[in-house]
Amino acid sequence: MLVGIDLGTTNSAVAIWRDGAPQLVPNALGKELTPSAVSIAKGGQTWVGEAALDRMATHPADTVTSFKRMMGTAATVTLAGTTLTPEDLSAMVLRSLADDVEAFTGERPTAAVITVPAYFNERQRRATRRAGEIAGLEVKRLINEPTAAALAFGLTDRGDREPFLVFDLGGGTFDVSIVEMFEGIVEVRASAGDNRLGGDDFDDILVKLVEPMLAGGDALAVMPTDRRRALMMLAAERTRRALSSAEAADFTVVVDDTPLTARVTTEAFEEAAAGLVKRLRDPVIRALRDCHIDVKTLSDIVLVGGATRMPVVRKALTRMFGRFPNATVHPDHAVALGAAIQAGLLSGGDGLEEIRITDVAPFTLGVDTATRDQHGRMHDGIFAPIIERNTPVPVSRMERFYTLADNQREIGLGIYQGEARDVKHNVKLGEISAPVPPRPAGEVMVEVRFTYDTSGLLEVDVTVPATGLTRNLVIVDEEDRRSKKDIEARRKLLEKLKVHPRDEAENVAMLARAERAYEGFTGHVREFIGRALTEFQGALEKQDPRIIADAREALGNLLDQLDANSPL
Ligand code: ADP
Ligand code: MG
Repeated sequence: MLVGIDLGTTNSAVAIWRDGAPQLVPNALGKELTPSAVSIAKGGQTWVGEAALDRMATHPADTVTSFKRMMGTAATVTLAGTTLTPEDLSAMVLRSLADDVEAFTGERPTAAVITVPAYFNERQRRATRRAGEIAGLEVKRLINEPTAAALAFGLTDRGDREPFLVFDLGGGTFDVSIVEMFEGIVEVRASAGDNRLGGDDFDDILVKLVEPMLAGGDALAVMPTDRRRALMMLAAERTRRALSSAEAADFTVVVDDTPLTARVTTEAFEEAAAGLVKRLRDPVIRALRDCHIDVKTLSDIVLVGGATRMPVVRKALTRMFGRFPNATVHPDHAVALGAAIQAGLLSGGDGLEEIRITDVAPFTLGVDTATRDQHGRMHDGIFAPIIERNTPVPVSRMERFYTLADNQREIGLGIYQGEARDVKHNVKLGEISAPVPPRPAGEVMVEVRFTYDTSGLLEVDVTVPATGLTRNLVIVDEEDRRSKKDIEARRKLLEKLKVHPRDEAENVAMLARAERAYEGFTGHVREFIGRALTEFQGALEKQDPRIIADAREALGNLLDQLDANSPL
């Protein structure tokens, strides 16, 4: 079975194509969003999703989130002695989503359409493919998140449309795309973004804002840094959500039984967030400029991503576009639903054959060259674009380059992706070289052809007309060959981890919730929760599902009551 997956920085979701419509699949807790979080205890005990996030406050060093931001880098994370790559961590989330699909449909998914930010470069896309393979899913296609959102949006209203803008602000990435739909073709005209901007950054500034305001902050200052940061970021996220529907909210952390509180007003938060809000403009302008579309001709502004729920963001958008954004698609579900539509398209789903997607190259692709200045000095490492960003794909372009030295025997070119003039600020994808006949400088020419297709594969051909020689390079080659063995090894490693059985997820979540409540109180209430916890653990040991379910319900009711009496 082929499924559609939104592998998000903060939250992930999986959807399937069923009975002519995309459908989200709930996780073991009955929720449609699964936090992209992993936690490992000594001995290999492993939690993924909500349960992992719950361990963040108590075991920050063993818990990791936002690892999508590390995709495509060599960074690793060590949790309780196990060293994992960002691909491994993503694979664990993917596997947990596959488990949910299996529990929901009775069938194990074997293949997936996975979404990535339009702004992801080649390396990040390759890392995402690898994550899928480690999780045992054949990655049939990677599609851009805004394209997926546009598919979900377009499906609700099949008519042709003027270009519209998809504005996706998630936990860690920001994407803007201009999309058009006509005669069953979904065309992404341009995309731009910032893969270092999202809700997390708003949490950061909120932490900075309240730190000096927290009375009794000394207790915080002596806390281990990682624990303090985890506590503060979790509290910031809660406060920020509260601020989405209230004029003011309390930022509270409990340190050594003492609650520290600071009141934050919408006004203060919005003032502190002004710098981040300003950063939302640039990608919008760049996307509009790249496709030569006037902001006035946009028919809709479609909001995607949890962080677009923030009033400060909505206000900024209303100012920016001079109108209110469209609210017909669910900001949290659109991307996964779109991925399922793409999955439906690939497996020939009913009623879908008439939709086609055309996409653009998200980055400029080119080679490094050298030039001489007016004094005859050579400057190398200068980027020469061949395929400009936001060119519709598939595309094939050719440029000519000349030898720079007398009797040069070879022309070697580095292949880069990015926008900077100095290639060292761009992403190097590979190298290609070709022997050339020895002649005076500038007399031998090579033709370099770049061909880029919808699956994100770049093919490079170099031809030397003087000799008729041709060299061809498909950019994924080297790394892919290396990674095949690697993928097996990673899969084996992950198999050693004892992931919590899916049917225990609710119990784990309830335990974590009760433990959090225990930490949040003192005195009698705390003792009371402690006893209830012990009782629940006793029930778990009986291993009788009915007893466990009853005990879980009782504990849940008790915690609900405490929540209802909370001063916040
Ligand atoms: P991603 O695509 O990065 O996985 P999501 O689209 O799920 O992320 O968005 C997650 C972000 O949305 C988080 O920063 C979260 O705090 C924020 N968010 C979700 N709901 C709200 C809300 N009601 N108010 C403010 N922020 C919210
Ligand atoms: Mg997202």
